[in-house]
Amino acid sequence: MTPVTHPDGRLSQYPPAELWDDWVEYDGKQWPKKVARNYMLVPTVCFNCESACGLLAYVDKETLEVRKFEGNPAHPGSRGRNCAKGPATHNQVYDPDRILYPLKRVGARGEGQWERISWEQALEEIGAKMRASREKRRDGIMYHVGRPGEDGFTNRCISAWGVDGHNSHTNICSAGARAGYAFWGGFDRPSPDHANARLILLLSSHLETGHYFNPHAQRIIEAKTAGAKIVTFDPRLSNTASMSDVWLPSWPGSETSILLSIANHLIQNDRYDRKYVEDWVNWRETLQAVRDGKLDPGPGFDRGLLAGDAARDDFSTFDALLKSLYAEYTFERAAEESEVPVERIEETAELVANCDGRLATHVWRAASIGNLGGWQVARALFFLNVLTGSIGTKGGTSANSWNKFVPKPFVSPAAFEAWNDLQLPDEWPLAHYEMSFLLPHFLKENRGEIDVYFTRVYNPVWINPNGFTWMDALRDESKVKCHVALTPTWNETAFYADYILPMGLASERHDLMSQETHDGQWIAFRQPVRRVAMEKMGHPVQFTYEANPGEVWEENEWWIELSMRMDPDGSLGVKQWFESPYRKGETINVEEYYRWIFENSVPGLPEAAAKEDLTPLAYMRKYGAFEISHSNLAPYAKELAPESGDEVGPDRTVRRNGQAVGVAVDGTARVGFGTPSRKLEFFSETLHMWGWPERDYTIPWSLESH
Ligand code: SF4
Repeated sequence: MTPVTHPDGRLSQYPPAELWDDWVEYDGKQWPKKVARNYMLVPTVCFNCESACGLLAYVDKETLEVRKFEGNPAHPGSRGRNCAKGPATHNQVYDPDRILYPLKRVGARGEGQWERISWEQALEEIGAKMRASREKRRDGIMYHVGRPGEDGFTNRCISAWGVDGHNSHTNICSAGARAGYAFWGGFDRPSPDHANARLILLLSSHLETGHYFNPHAQRIIEAKTAGAKIVTFDPRLSNTASMSDVWLPSWPGSETSILLSIANHLIQNDRYDRKYVEDWVNWRETLQAVRDGKLDPGPGFDRGLLAGDAARDDFSTFDALLKSLYAEYTFERAAEESEVPVERIEETAELVANCDGRLATHVWRAASIGNLGGWQVARALFFLNVLTGSIGTKGGTSANSWNKFVPKPFVSPAAFEAWNDLQLPDEWPLAHYEMSFLLPHFLKENRGEIDVYFTRVYNPVWINPNGFTWMDALRDESKVKCHVALTPTWNETAFYADYILPMGLASERHDLMSQETHDGQWIAFRQPVRRVAMEKMGHPVQFTYEANPGEVWEENEWWIELSMRMDPDGSLGVKQWFESPYRKGETINVEEYYRWIFENSVPGLPEAAAKEDLTPLAYMRKYGAFEISHSNLAPYAKELAPESGDEVGPDRTVRRNGQAVGVAVDGTARVGFGTPSRKLEFFSETLHMWGWPERDYTIPWSLESH
């Protein structure tokens, strides 16, 4: 047995990887008889949330049945551990009510009558509809995804079809939080280094319902064991709240006021990281915004401080501005709005003030999406990271893109001119992700219709607001002309489909995933475990449905074959993107797709594989995961490689051919952030320009919630 050492010195045991192909253990159900079972242990990736934890499937070599799932110790994110939903994949695989064959509607839509069809029939019929749509327009095919569970394969297909067709569930989920982070730093979401934090500040109950549930939870508890404090904002006494040092049961919608009262405490008492803010925040642009009348500085600000030349603006003027702006955010006001005892808010503020640059924060759904103006919750929360200089530090909070690694495929279609108004209508120019929850309303208003509508692991009839409107829209065959539900299970939305296509679970499909679970970068490979076992035992498989239960397929192979049916002669320009990089003129297969990525796009993987005398693909098939870097802190502070013609303006932004490419800090050009100014944007010129000029929007501020 392989010992795995936890940080606290405990040992746990996993079968050693070199024995995974031939592992024997006693069958627990046969106790007290000693009946040996001979397994092949095949790594895969859980599909029951976005954490992408590693699983080890125990495939019985005699029957090829998966007898159980355990954790994969080779996975850097989950480190051999899972929540209950991981091993419960077994229940899903053997669910007696699961859909095992492609189904086509008979009778009227929504009548619940189905006939079994072949994959060939589904490919031919749906491919023909897609071709007919694409010949007419670029906005007739829509892929509406609930849980992606993969990084880029399907998006690449949609681009290859030449349509603006991606729709997501995000607008009823994390869009608010993402917007707050995007306006600050040009990134999508936070990646807290929980394990090394001094203070973990969570909005909503992350140990059990956060985005990266198991990988985060295990690191939060490690930090707590090492002495970190946990503060949780949650109206409910959740499991996380019960494990916290301070629980703030804030009235929903009041979170921003509490966060800004903490910010105010740091600002008024000069307990913020002045040097960090001076180096990385767009304070000069903010002062200019006051000078230009774009930002009301508040009654306490002496405008005479801005009388001189902008080039001579001093950081102390910005400090005075902060003190004026946030003076109204007192602890007493926060306590009154939130109905949280003022002492708990004060205690939290002291913990933040003493975090020593090791403040791990996270907000995802709940407060940021459940209330009007929730996006400002993320803005206000990250303000505390800015003020404490805990961005990209050990124990601080990074951007997701610094820890999530998405390798490039062999070739990608270029961007094209198309816009689907059913997804991003003009009325919401700063909509962060598609306005998907309004789709049935747009259809009812006759704003358009959809030729081929794919719902994928998505059940809007049940989970979106106003399910009855969804039912009306899906029943209307003039608006949704063909509805294809890709789903491993029955659901209320599939009931209104024309085709129900059974797609694989965690152990029945190929996907590549990475997530920002901690300070580090990794990829993990989801595999159809029976197929892998069969092939290792010498039984070749062409398509994954040959190895899965019934005729359950995997989406990647389905998309490849469907794209070829859509454009058999290549005249639409689709076919070219599905040509094998290894066999000229022939259709790529799923193994080749990932083989190319592993050989060419993952730093360090070919070398690690060569050390074990394996190909990169064989390495990933064996371990199911690869760690690309053990740590990737503060990449924004990396030096910018200079080029002739680079110019540094008085605002310290480094420009190349007129484009902002970096920021000068102490005379050295640094990469900076993904914002228009390359700095952390306290004042958002973007919001001002796009029609939200009020202070409530342009800087971290509390918006009155409904
Ligand atoms: S936390 Fe991990 S084991 Fe649990 S559902 Fe998510 S991916 Fe699966």
